[in-house]
Amino acid sequence: MKTTFLRSVAAIALAGTAFSASAQNYPTKTVTMIVPFAAGGPTDTVARLVAQSMGKTLKQQIIVENVGGAGGTIGAARVAKAAPDGYTIFLHHIGHSTAPALYRKLSYNAMTDFEPIGLVTDVPMTLIAKADFPAKNFQELLAYVKANKTKVTYANAGLGSASHLCGMLFQTAIGVDLTTVPYKGTGPAMNDMLGGQVDLMCDQTTNTTSQIKSNKVKVYGVTTKQRLASMPNVPTMAEAGLPGFEIAVWHGMYAPKGTPKPVVETLSNALRVALKDPTVKQRFADLGTEPVAENRARPEALRAHVKAEIDRWGPIITKAGQYAD
Ligand code: ASP
Repeated sequence: MKTTFLRSVAAIALAGTAFSASAQNYPTKTVTMIVPFAAGGPTDTVARLVAQSMGKTLKQQIIVENVGGAGGTIGAARVAKAAPDGYTIFLHHIGHSTAPALYRKLSYNAMTDFEPIGLVTDVPMTLIAKADFPAKNFQELLAYVKANKTKVTYANAGLGSASHLCGMLFQTAIGVDLTTVPYKGTGPAMNDMLGGQVDLMCDQTTNTTSQIKSNKVKVYGVTTKQRLASMPNVPTMAEAGLPGFEIAVWHGMYAPKGTPKPVVETLSNALRVALKDPTVKQRFADLGTEPVAENRARPEALRAHVKAEIDRWGPIITKAGQYAD
């Protein structure tokens, strides 16, 4: 009896040693970063830039796996159930904090099933239309959508995506219901807009900047308080006619709950190095965004932010009456 007890104590102690040794050597193989939206979209773009730089610091490749659908909740559910060993990490945006109010049957808890690693970037959004959309400016846009209402199609990346939230704010502000076309990400939605199959979208600058600059889409406004240095001629939504219209898409990085603290710290440190990497900073600037301040790229800052955003968006979503089962 006594021997058995001692043996199990020894086994537990050994397992502990093996565990901390593996945390110390981490990472010894490729890490997978789950992005809960389709490839080629705005969050995917942010993820790939950061993953590449973090991989250099960690001396292991970080590959991005796109698990799109249901506004990011399918990818999040996958991460919540992944082994907490540091080899699966997650890059998601504001949707991580809106999902608890939007989805009544979430299979995970956005706060307690994840270990925050740090905030990454706040990406502005732009209201855009297909190139041959009849409205030439914001006033014409308002007149056109009011006259044509549900005939106008609006693309988004599913309930809880940033494009959905921005569209919800836009439609509420102007009192019009458009016909929504959901995609697994705004990467594929942009392809359809370039093909002329869908009319309007509000999407992140990490996806829209190059299309705006090459006149492949029309732009009506940016969703930040100030105009963007990367597109100084584009008015803010407030200047265009909707005072107080403001939304930026914060991105955060997580690991599954139970990932050893030293591993989370290693990842968080690599994230902070990536956010100072001149290549990452330059690409972010080209795409109308910038890395968060260093003190926000930390686990405790992201944990507090997720909670504050859950508290902020819950009542807005409840008021708008938008839910998924
Ligand atoms: N982040 C999504 C994507 O990368 C788009 C969105 O949230 O609207 O496709």
